[in-house]
Amino acid sequence: MSHEVEEPTYEVIGPLERFDERDNLFARERLIAGSPEERAYHALHPELVEVDRRLAAFIEGKADAQSQDEDWMGAAFYSATFGPVAALAQPDMVDGPTGPQKVEGEPADMARRVKKLARYLGADLVRIGPLNPAWVYSHRGCPPFFEGYQANSPLFDGIPDGYRDLKWGAPIEIPHRYAISMAFAQDDRLMRTTPSPVSDLEVGQVYARSALASVQLARYVRALGYPARAHHLRNYGVLVVPVAVDAGLGELARSGYLISKELGLNFRLACVTTDLPMALDRPVDLGVQDFCQECLKCAETCPPKAISRGEKVVVRGVQKWKLDEVKCLLYWGHVGSACAICQVVCPWSKPRTPFHRFVAEIATRVPAARRFLVWADDLVYGAKFEPRPIPGWVK
Ligand code: SF4
Ligand code: SF4
Repeated sequence: MSHEVEEPTYEVIGPLERFDERDNLFARERLIAGSPEERAYHALHPELVEVDRRLAAFIEGKADAQSQDEDWMGAAFYSATFGPVAALAQPDMVDGPTGPQKVEGEPADMARRVKKLARYLGADLVRIGPLNPAWVYSHRGCPPFFEGYQANSPLFDGIPDGYRDLKWGAPIEIPHRYAISMAFAQDDRLMRTTPSPVSDLEVGQVYARSALASVQLARYVRALGYPARAHHLRNYGVLVVPVAVDAGLGELARSGYLISKELGLNFRLACVTTDLPMALDRPVDLGVQDFCQECLKCAETCPPKAISRGEKVVVRGVQKWKLDEVKCLLYWGHVGSACAICQVVCPWSKPRTPFHRFVAEIATRVPAARRFLVWADDLVYGAKFEPRPIPGWVK
């Protein structure tokens, strides 16, 4: 059954403001103390100096673990999976020249071909939507190269010639009209060990798969004669969550992530923006806004209470539940691994069995059943989160 609707289910309250990637926590935690970027940022935001210092300690902890042989397993997993993603983030990986001739085709046929290739490349879900310019970052905050950034030192030593205009603070303009959004499923068994080196391994591996697939898909589209740019973990130019909502991959949820009917919250996103004319998909209404009103499971189980238990608020023109990213990331630093408890406890995040597909259909089609489903999920899977043991093959 199609759940497509004319407009996405988030509510636009005021003028949409573009997000400055320099304000992203992952950009702030990488600011090197005393660098020109760090001094410039904190001159504008003196109130963030202390919290950014604590955030930076998390990433420095990872680098220290690598250099001091502490947590050798986690550090080795991190290097194996996240390291190559940084290589795939180089400017000539995510973008490049287009082919000499434009291949002409019917938009519906082009969309079909692109989706088939995206699935072949590893995407579990793929949909195509318009690119709203409001979802393009205004300025770069996570450049592909961080001079002096310890965690990247095995890979990069300084900024190569030709990449110097891609520095921190550079304005970002992406004039593309369309976005191909892809979702990559995470292994439920491994993710339920979270927060652990093994869930980090799985997250890194899924990001690596998504980075390679998006780079490959963008190259394919450019070879057809159309501009195309990949967006993945280490080099985003757009906010991939609202872009995916506009394409109908799912709905924005209380947790701040996207819920898809097929994968719940248990996946990662990547996308390709382009001007290749393709038939567009529409957004969907799965009943998630109503379901999240009834269900507070992610908020109840989040250890640092970073997820809102209250009402939606207006963020840069959009009404949504606001995640406290600082509390979330500081918790990651506290436990030494990226946490994904909210992703795995969500009632929508279940293995893709016929039974769970059936339950997702009920949740979507029968509003009156949602309260019961929230209650039943607690009964069957428990209201509290208990991490699973680390699988034997990893030890
Ligand atoms: S990742 Fe963990 S700490 Fe962050 S919001 Fe989810 S449950 Fe909370
Ligand atoms: S756990 Fe419940 S409240 Fe949180 S995102 Fe999932 S459905 Fe929404």
